[in-house]
Amino acid sequence: MILSNGKEQTPIVIKKCCLKSAPKYAELIFHQDKKKYYLHIIVEVKERKIENTAEVMAIDLGIIHPMVCFDGKKVLIYNGGILNSKIRYRNKKLAEFQQKLSKCQKNSRKFKKLLRAKKRVLRRVNNQIRDVLEKYTSHLIGYCIKNGIGTIVLGNLRGIRNRARYKKVSNQKIHQWMFKRIARRIEEKAKFVGIEVKFIKENETSQNCLVCGSKNKSKNRNYECKSCDFRYHRDGVGAINMYKKYTGSLNLVVGLLACPTGVRYTSHLCCPIEWNIHPIGKTAENSSCQESSPFQGGESQY
Ligand SMILES: [Zn+2]
Repeated sequence: MILSNGKEQTPIVIKKCCLKSAPKYAELIFHQDKKKYYLHIIVEVKERKIENTAEVMAIDLGIIHPMVCFDGKKVLIYNGGILNSKIRYRNKKLAEFQQKLSKCQKNSRKFKKLLRAKKRVLRRVNNQIRDVLEKYTSHLIGYCIKNGIGTIVLGNLRGIRNRARYKKVSNQKIHQWMFKRIARRIEEKAKFVGIEVKFIKENETSQNCLVCGSKNKSKNRNYECKSCDFRYHRDGVGAINMYKKYTGSLNLVVGLLACPTGVRYTSHLCCPIEWNIHPIGKTAENSSCQESSPFQGGESQY
């Protein structure tokens, strides 16, 4: 690939570049942290239309689990352990830096050094968090395509409940930030494949019994109704209630609900279906991973 470098300048030649379509824009950027030049290429990718779009999926965004989904048949839980541990680590490191910074003179050499270190640590953790979120949302979209889901229902973000008893304000802030980010990424990725995203009010949906509708607060991981003895995995109840609210289906056969399926983050988490093909010829190397069992390594029974 030959990139023009302005008039009377030698063009930049890039060897071993196998783009599937012509680039729209390219920019050579020096990454200070890695001390390397990176070529950023923008290519236009056609939006894909999926054929089967009759099904609806409700997604409950939460703190313990970033996403709990229900599609009328199955509950899918994205494990939040890794995210929460990264957030804890981030907050711990931030507090450590803040304490050290408060002890030294402002704008001194030590102060500046600490500030740089703080930025470096933050950037690294934020990148790790982003990686989890990107892989989870991509996996979700793959699952939707595979199961013919044409509408994704999300809770209205202003009314996010704090189901976990986190006391620290910083935790709350980062979770709020994460909810917005997850919702935005779901919206963007869904739009890319032609899935509609709807927002509904989700107040108190997690407390209502799926059978009789009475309110129950659960103290542990299991939901138990005091009036009718209905029992289920607590995290699924919110998503199922949202699904019921949106679709208006009252005759949901609760007795047939299967145990929730969990998706756990691994650094090689693959999508159930190949939908976000990398425009740069990277897929060939990774195809062995995508051809194998779609849930390999990523999914476990709860
Ligand atoms: Zn009940």
